[in-house]
Amino acid sequence: MPAPTDDSADCIFCKIIASASPVAEHGACFAFHDKYPVTDGHLLIVPKRHAPDYFSLTADEKKDADYLLHQLREAIQQEDPSVTGFNIGINNGFDAGQTVFHCHIHLIPRRKGDCENPRGGVRGVIPGKRGY
Ligand code: AMP
Ligand code: ZN
Repeated sequence: MPAPTDDSADCIFCKIIASASPVAEHGACFAFHDKYPVTDGHLLIVPKRHAPDYFSLTADEKKDADYLLHQLREAIQQEDPSVTGFNIGINNGFDAGQTVFHCHIHLIPRRKGDCENPRGGVRGVIPGKRGY
C-alpha cells in the first residue's frame, strides 16, 4: 500500500476513520454519514489511507470503494423504499469544488420530488448548466 501523504495528521476524515464507527467498511475503504447531507442518507465512501483524490487511489481501493457503493445502495433502498435514484460524485481538486483533501465518493440518495426538476443531475456542478 502506498504511504499516506504528510497532510494526514490534520485531516478530519483520517480522524473520523481512526475514531468513529463506520456505517460500513470493506477492505481498504470506510463509509460514514456526511455531516451536512444534501439529502437524507447522504454517505461518503473513503479510502482508509489518506489519499488526496480519486486519481491517487490504488486498484484495490477503487475495487473496495465500488463494493461499498453497491452494498450501501442495496441497504439504503431496502431500508427506505422512497429512495428511487442516486447521485454518485467525486470532486477532484479545489477548482472542481473539493473542500476536504482526503478522497471521498459522495453517495446521495434521491427521491421523487426531492427537487422541482432533477433533469441533468450532476451537470449542476456548474450552476446554470444542469439543464440541456
Ligand atoms: P467535497 O466538497 O467534495 O470536498 O465534500 C466534503 C464533504 O465533507 C461535504 O459534503 C461536507 O458536508 C462533508 N464534511 C465536512 N466535514 C465533515 C465532518 N466532520 N464529518 C462528515 N462529513 C463532513
Ligand atoms: Zn485523511
